Amino acid sequence: MDEVTKVFTQIPEFLEYLGPECAAAIANAAPNDELDLSPKFPFLCSRRYADLIKKAAEPEALLREILPTRDELASVPGFVDDPVGDLPAGKADCVIQKYDRRALIVSTATCGARCRFCFRKNYPFQNIPDVARQVSDWLDTHSDIWEVILSGGDPLMLGPGEFRDLVEAIAMHSSVTTLRIHTRLPVMRPDVVMQHFELLRELPARFECVLVSHVDHPDELDEQSQMVFGQLRFSGWTLLNQSVLLKGVNNNAGTLEKLSRRLFEQGVLPYYLHQLDHANGVAHFEVSDETAKELIKEIRTRLPGYLVPKLVREIAGEKSKTPIL
Ligand SMILES: *Cc1c(COP(=O)(O)O)cnc(C)c1O
Ligand code: SF4
Repeated sequence: MDEVTKVFTQIPEFLEYLGPECAAAIANAAPNDELDLSPKFPFLCSRRYADLIKKAAEPEALLREILPTRDELASVPGFVDDPVGDLPAGKADCVIQKYDRRALIVSTATCGARCRFCFRKNYPFQNIPDVARQVSDWLDTHSDIWEVILSGGDPLMLGPGEFRDLVEAIAMHSSVTTLRIHTRLPVMRPDVVMQHFELLRELPARFECVLVSHVDHPDELDEQSQMVFGQLRFSGWTLLNQSVLLKGVNNNAGTLEKLSRRLFEQGVLPYYLHQLDHANGVAHFEVSDETAKELIKEIRTRLPGYLVPKLVREIAGEKSKTPIL
């Protein structure tokens, strides 16, 4: 396998690649007896993310996002398999519409890596055959939809041909004026984002284009993410970021401040700071609303208003994300 595109699916091989210089951070993030070598939600990490860990100022923060621990086995009241009510909102197999005149597409089940706090970690993901046709059929009968959000999994993990088919199917529907992509690949697999670049560059001629990256920690940003964001911005994309507030990863004001500033240096504005969705197996990442509000209050004193993300939670059945004030 090509070294750049390599992914790790086996934890021992991944730990060996990180090497002795990461041993202390690994012991910190997942002590030996806490590590879960065969987790139900599979382990997957890109070589690129491993390289980010190696050069991180806070490697244990990044490791906690990716290394499965036995904490995931805890059954905690209130933490459930479908925390955000995706299943009742599913209209077609891959279309989720919760909000007025806007729809979200679960484009693929594949991701560039598996985040341990994933809200869809227990979701009955299947790769959707012929997602373009399904979306097109659905849009045919929903001419009120003006924003289509490609989510997943990670939509940019579709092969270049499939991704193009999907976008072209959407473009056939003139009611859709905004195309939005939610992706973690500028962090996990910048090489894969670049595979789609020819198409990504053309899209702002057809839609208002918004890319919402998912970056949780300033050490996830480097010259490769900067290159990806720079090219998108130059092509006319609006760049926003959402993060999840995660205990042991970014639950302090200094980290959140640095994250906002580094995103801005790369041309990206902070959009949401999400309170954790209560999926089974993620309770150990929980930060209380009270602490979350304190953190926002603190970073508000350190940053211009446009670099302070909105603190929100998703509540199943609500008609929008719910601000935490
Ligand atoms: C989060 C979400 C959106 C987007 O909400 P915004 O507040 O516009 O970011 C749209 N559809 C679904 C199903 C969602 O879960
Ligand atoms: S990239 Fe998103 S969907 Fe994929 S594992 Fe991470 S949080 Fe879950």
